[in-house]
Amino acid sequence: MKRSAVIPVAALLLSVGLTAGLFCWTRGGMGKGVRPEFEAFRSEGGGTPEARLKAPEFSRWNRYPREPEIRVALREQPVDALTLEIDAPYRIRAVGGKSVLMRGARLASCRVVVDEKGLRVGGTRLDAEGVEIEVDRSPAIWVGGNEYRGRVRLYRRDKRVLPVNVLPLEQYIAGVVDSEMPAAFPREARRAQAIVARTYALYQVEQAPRGAVYDLFASTRSQKYQGYQYRGEKNRLLAGESDSSREIAESTRGVVGQHDGGLFCTYYCAVCGGKTVEGSGVFKDAAPVLSPVTCDGCRDARLYRWEAEVTKREAESALRPLLGREGKKLGTVKSLQAVRKGSRGASSQYVVRDDRQSFQVTGAALRQALGSKGLYSPNFDVQDKGQSLLFSGRGHGHGVGLCQWGARGMAQRGATAEQIFRHYYAGAVLVGLGYR
Ligand SMILES: [Zn+2]
Repeated sequence: MKRSAVIPVAALLLSVGLTAGLFCWTRGGMGKGVRPEFEAFRSEGGGTPEARLKAPEFSRWNRYPREPEIRVALREQPVDALTLEIDAPYRIRAVGGKSVLMRGARLASCRVVVDEKGLRVGGTRLDAEGVEIEVDRSPAIWVGGNEYRGRVRLYRRDKRVLPVNVLPLEQYIAGVVDSEMPAAFPREARRAQAIVARTYALYQVEQAPRGAVYDLFASTRSQKYQGYQYRGEKNRLLAGESDSSREIAESTRGVVGQHDGGLFCTYYCAVCGGKTVEGSGVFKDAAPVLSPVTCDGCRDARLYRWEAEVTKREAESALRPLLGREGKKLGTVKSLQAVRKGSRGASSQYVVRDDRQSFQVTGAALRQALGSKGLYSPNFDVQDKGQSLLFSGRGHGHGVGLCQWGARGMAQRGATAEQIFRHYYAGAVLVGLGYR
């Protein structure tokens, strides 16, 4: 649920025209031939039976005739070594290759490292830049403390190893739902989360540059995913997915958000604090549907309001490298004040003064610099206390898009997944992809 405001460098490369075969999933828009998993949505859509009868039969979109696979990087950076264990008959091939380089009935826990020419799995040298592990029975592959469904690829990158899990999108979604939203949250909030997570993931698939070996990260840098199960503290085995999250994924199978004929990046946050933030103020690829909306569902969240006291000296050492990257030299911090409230909820501006000059910084930059000091969001007021600064803030996370605690509040008051989705991404519609 911790969501960092990472600003993706990749700009929106192209607006993919998805309209052709997507059937529009709007109120009363379901014709005959509706798939059983959409039945529940139909009843929630609110269309009258007459409207449904008149609705045209939708066509399936051939761009995704089959459920797509997703490639999840299991580490944000390549690592020196990994622990690998396989609990089923397996085969290892070079990625894209046919011949089997290594096989066995199972693989006891061993280390994976790179050497001059390839990868070393336990005592076996594999002469390849990347290998793929395939198993007879999934889930069976352990990488570090996590067991994953599907296949695992190990790439040799910068003299280190990068593990990537390749699996069907819906199995991935079942994992994300439980990692991103507690099982105790209402079902409709979790269904909205599944739709948002699926849209986010598929958007990343479509934006991945040619030659990329993964679509997104398993961490909150993208969205949190822990696989089928994992070892927690004291080696306790914990579930990465559940009957509930599998059902949530299945009951929203193939449903994604659409804006302007294409997928969009469905950014979401933990707690918005009462109003969501203008997406374009935070993310370069923010679609217009990421506009501020009021949210009164997140009042119960612990971080709906928060306070953090930071000494001026702490602020100084956190801000100095940040400003230094822009070629600015920060002296001894004298004051930090809000310049203006951002318009339409955009990132607000602050001015930092030292003994000689002043510097403008955004709320988002301050949050990035002072996150470890308890600044949970870029939305705050600041008060000068002499030696220190008192921040009084709202919410947790970047504040853009769906508010997870707000979705909880809306669902508790009877809102459906569709209503929740449409509240936070006003103007976007839900559509069903063609795969079964
Ligand atoms: Zn909220």
